[in-house]
Amino acid sequence: MQFGFPFESRSSNLGSEVFVMAFDKEDARELLRRGGLRTTAPRLAVLRVLADAPHPVSHKEVLELMGETDWDPATIFRNLVKLREAGIAPVVSRAEGIDRYALASSDEHRHAHFVCDDCGKVSCLPDKVTASIKVSGRWAKAVRDAVVQLRGECPDCRQAGRA
Ligand SMILES: [Zn+2]
Ligand SMILES: [Zn+2]
Repeated sequence: MQFGFPFESRSSNLGSEVFVMAFDKEDARELLRRGGLRTTAPRLAVLRVLADAPHPVSHKEVLELMGETDWDPATIFRNLVKLREAGIAPVVSRAEGIDRYALASSDEHRHAHFVCDDCGKVSCLPDKVTASIKVSGRWAKAVRDAVVQLRGECPDCRQAGRA
């Protein structure tokens, strides 16, 4: 799974199959600048986590992935919200009533999201969601968006269960 970053990412195709997605401090600074935000240490740290996570992450998961820090959870949450408001880290999944964030990507996460009933992880699926639901009458103009949530047991949990 790869996110299309809204900036030019440095990638190198070393001969054959190696694809390196680098996200460094300069990329993070540039994102913040474009979003009209000052560069601060917590914001850089949150961006680092979002760039490294291969799936949308909740506030709790950001804290877990960040490990030991000097910042309290509320500080991290405030910065997540700032990044969301700036359009840098939109909420791309609300599975189970939990907001999960990801770096803005070219397809705006209009693909399907899968929530695992075992580990609770939300994953981006490569497939585009196509749902054909016909809404008529006075509701026809009311519908703005549709959320499709796929559930089940993720490949990792299935594999662990079989081992
Ligand atoms: Zn799982
Ligand atoms: Zn996604």
